[in-house]
Amino acid sequence: MTNSILEAREKRWAKKLWLVQKFVEKAPVASLAVLTLRMPMPLRASARAADIAHRLFSLFEETIQNADIALSYKELKISADGPESYIVCDAEAEMLKHLAVRFESEHNWGELVDIDIMDSCGHTKNRSALGYEPRKCFVCNEVAAVCAAGRSHSLQEIQARIEKILERAPEHLFLQKPHMHDAYPEPYKNSGGLHASIHG
Ligand SMILES: [Zn+2]
Repeated sequence: MTNSILEAREKRWAKKLWLVQKFVEKAPVASLAVLTLRMPMPLRASARAADIAHRLFSLFEETIQNADIALSYKELKISADGPESYIVCDAEAEMLKHLAVRFESEHNWGELVDIDIMDSCGHTKNRSALGYEPRKCFVCNEVAAVCAAGRSHSLQEIQARIEKILERAPEHLFLQKPHMHDAYPEPYKNSGGLHASIHG
């Protein structure tokens, strides 16, 4: 990994903390979504990737707005580590994480994006704490972290799969309104205890 990529990741981390601190003063339930592309280098740094990111990240923004969540800040930038988008929302982080996981797993292009959610205290919400399975590899459907660590797939194989995914129509995610909360599986509805334990 080059220094510029490491530097871009450090900057991303610092920026996340800065953004939540800045917005929490205005709205105590603010939370931050950071979107990156789920592609290895050098695919992630290509012009094609920037084009995909513009479209894909906008689709998630629209999903947030369709769920009646207000955005108080958004920014898309292209760093040495690829495209990244920052979205600050007037929503509780756990609720935003459920929406992000739904987008990642149900939207036609969701497999191509990683959506990190940070709460107003600077804590990252992770899938396992909310009862979700780890993400699957979009090439072979094994646990993605295992494929990434073992470099199981060639760039050509991954690129071909990405193009296949992009052939699907990028329709909007269906959200049940106005009671979107009812769309969640039963165990996720009253996760106050879980919430407390990950902060404890
Ligand atoms: Zn795989």
